[in-house]
Amino acid sequence: MADHGLVIDMKSMGDNNIIDVNVASMYVDVGGGVLWTDVLKRCLGYGLAPKSWTDYLDLTVGGTLSNAGVSGQAFRFGPQTSTVMELEVVTGNGVKTVCSNSQNSELFFSVLGGLGQFGIITRARIMLQHAPDMVRWIRVVYSEFDEFTRDAELLIMSEESFNYVEGFVVVNSDDPVTGWPSVPLASNQSFDPTHLPKKTGPVLYSLELALHYSKHDDSSTVNMLVEKLLRQLTFVEQLRFEIDSTYMDFLLRVNHAEQVARGSGSGIWDTPHPWLNMFVSKRDIAAFNRVVFQNITKGGVNGPMLTYPLLRSKWDSRSSVVLPQSDIFYSVSLLRFTHAHPKESEIKQMVAQNNEIVQTCIKNGFDFKLYLPHYESTAEWKKHFGDQWKRFVERKSQFDPKAVLAPGQKIFTRNHQL
Ligand SMILES: Cc1cc2nc3c(=O)[nH]c(=O)nc-3n(C[C@H](O)[C@H](O)[C@H](O)COP(=O)(O)OP(=O)(O)OC[C@H]3O[C@@H](n4cnc5c(N)ncnc54)[C@H](O)[C@@H]3O)c2cc1C
Repeated sequence: MADHGLVIDMKSMGDNNIIDVNVASMYVDVGGGVLWTDVLKRCLGYGLAPKSWTDYLDLTVGGTLSNAGVSGQAFRFGPQTSTVMELEVVTGNGVKTVCSNSQNSELFFSVLGGLGQFGIITRARIMLQHAPDMVRWIRVVYSEFDEFTRDAELLIMSEESFNYVEGFVVVNSDDPVTGWPSVPLASNQSFDPTHLPKKTGPVLYSLELALHYSKHDDSSTVNMLVEKLLRQLTFVEQLRFEIDSTYMDFLLRVNHAEQVARGSGSGIWDTPHPWLNMFVSKRDIAAFNRVVFQNITKGGVNGPMLTYPLLRSKWDSRSSVVLPQSDIFYSVSLLRFTHAHPKESEIKQMVAQNNEIVQTCIKNGFDFKLYLPHYESTAEWKKHFGDQWKRFVERKSQFDPKAVLAPGQKIFTRNHQL
């Protein structure tokens, strides 16, 4: 994990378990190694919750803030990095510093999305909102990509919209993991493919939506609002699935999937997951659909293929995250799972397909950036950061001049012996 270096176990820090909710000012102070699952549970005790999440919550606060932290709330509130009020950081210089938008702001924005290169986040102050009790969780299906993207963009730009908007690609087959059966939300719902138009291609698209409500709300009021929002959309009418869920269960949906995967005894949660995450400009997403979803991955990736639009205006350009140029860009996540007891060749094939996709994007001149990037050389990182490389290097020389932190990412070479 860190050749000739150190791995810091954040749980070993005395104040790591801090989760202090400030009800009057609507924020929570949390230790850098605290899991978002625990933040959620503590905050719900006060009827409050953070605004922006990841899909899976057994991740640490410091870990996601070092990347961005993206899920279906990000269209409205930005990534998790946009909901941070203050950080306490131990820099590579060994200095413990409190920073925010107005205090030591250069360090604050360096660390947000900074891939752990500038300092270790030991505490974060996260904005809160009033938590709903319940959500109406909905999936609707499209056979045409342009209709899917038009509706998704309409929803993320409307004042009145759902509280959560994501989307995913479904293989047009009966495969239980990647095909029609992966769309319904409950065991008493089924996907009837005869409702699909005859000319449907190798893949379908599904918008995943959620609307918050209170358990005291009149169900007819909730239904009316749902119908009003759905009425503007052009999905295949008979392919609509919905359930009501508690807010906590909805946010823990991937944690529940993890329990099922672990409980199955197949070992698939613990095998390698060569995931590919990227942000693709709106300009190129239709072409990306043709060359990637409808071609390279048309048979699926044995796991979810997420794609949904985000608004650049909700991301702070002073943070270290790099994004495509356009005002709207799509988060694309190929969340590959292996089969039980995979051979090395299966994993190598997945990695090779990821490389093929990246190379195809480069060859076609797509405006895209890898999210959760992995590169092997400084030259590749330089290309990744583009015109932000100079700033990233300056920040490194200011906050971690000996390149002590996170050398394994191969962005900078450590210039001294530990
Ligand atoms: C199952 C799963 C689902 C995911 N889903 C999403 C998702 O929906 N949305 C999304 O945006 N991301 C998602 N991710 C990616 C996730 O944001 C990153 O993997 C993140 O690094 C996870 O944090 P961690 O606590 O596991 O970090 P670790 O793996 O422990 O650390 C990764 C690196 O982050 C840096 N780092 C970690 N903690 C700190 C700290 N306190 N201070 C400074 N640097 C630090 C270090 O460089 C470290 O090497 C998912 C990951 C997994 C495994």
